[in-house]
Amino acid sequence: RRVIQTEVLPEDSRIETSLRPKMLKDYIGQEKAKENLKIYIEAAKQRGDSLDHVLFYGPPGLGKTTLAGIIANEMGVHMKVTSGPAIEKPGEMAAILNNLQEGDVLFVDEIHRLNRQVEEVLYPAMEDFAIDIMIGKGAAARSIRLDLPRFTLVGATTRAGLLTAPLRDRFGVIHHLEFYTEEELAEIICNSAKILDVEIEPEGAIELAKRSRGTPRLANRLLKRVRDFAQVKYDGKITRETASFALDLLEVDTYGLDVTDRNLLTTMIEKFQGGPVGLDTLAATIGEDAGTIEDVYEPYLLKKGFLIRTPRGRMATEKSYHHLGLQFQ
Ligand code: ADP
Repeated sequence: RRVIQTEVLPEDSRIETSLRPKMLKDYIGQEKAKENLKIYIEAAKQRGDSLDHVLFYGPPGLGKTTLAGIIANEMGVHMKVTSGPAIEKPGEMAAILNNLQEGDVLFVDEIHRLNRQVEEVLYPAMEDFAIDIMIGKGAAARSIRLDLPRFTLVGATTRAGLLTAPLRDRFGVIHHLEFYTEEELAEIICNSAKILDVEIEPEGAIELAKRSRGTPRLANRLLKRVRDFAQVKYDGKITRETASFALDLLEVDTYGLDVTDRNLLTTMIEKFQGGPVGLDTLAATIGEDAGTIEDVYEPYLLKKGFLIRTPRGRMATEKSYHHLGLQFQ
């Protein structure tokens, strides 16, 4: 299993709860999103109104769920959590909406995976705070409108483009979450170390931050792995050396790339002369899902300049050749 996989692993769930910042002031990075949210939250509170519906998009592990929780805490309301694939029938969505209390936050993860009929329940719910229910069958069928409490829908998805236009248009606030800088990640790592009661030197935190692919979830996960290592092999303290040694063992390289990333780049270079190669061809060659490559692996590789997208497909850059120790032609 990938160490640097960004999806939630079973062992993450408990620890993530304890490491999640609860309020906006404790949330590190994403300055633009934070600044805007602060104003919207303040304004809604002054009016005594619910917050406008919010959509967060960006790669997994960047803090979308965390921000949804923060919105609920800052507004002083409850949050209900669900996800696109978990809701199969329109009636299930109607029941969830109907059980909300005034002002509540409904967080829908992977919102692009809602099926069409379920999504259609959301349109009037988001726009008019109402749902239409069909009663009876055939000629006697009629629809009645049920009022809902005012609520805030917070949706999360990897790419905004995955949403249908009618759904996307119903969000008042749309934010793209960015990869974190090394400094921001080092700060997150130091805070997490404090909560986990692990001793860490600043250089140790920087080393971990460098190799965490700009992603807090990974930073926290690598911190735990390195902690175990430091505890068993050393005196428990995480230094630059222990961090570096442990991460080398985990085959996470100095850019935070792992075996799968390197395999992807090597395949592009050795089998396709560096590209351009189409996403589907590449996916089939390395035996990965095209959507996973596009949403999970590729954004970081693009951001760090290991590959580029052209109209004819993906291309490995000179940086990839150098990083892999291959001759650039
Ligand atoms: P997403 O919903 O985007 O997949 P999460 O909100 O679940 O990501 O974040 C994953 C973990 O990373 C959280 O449990 C939290 O511990 C940590 N995290 C995310 N963003 C931040 C942040 N800005 N500051 C501190 N920790 C964060």
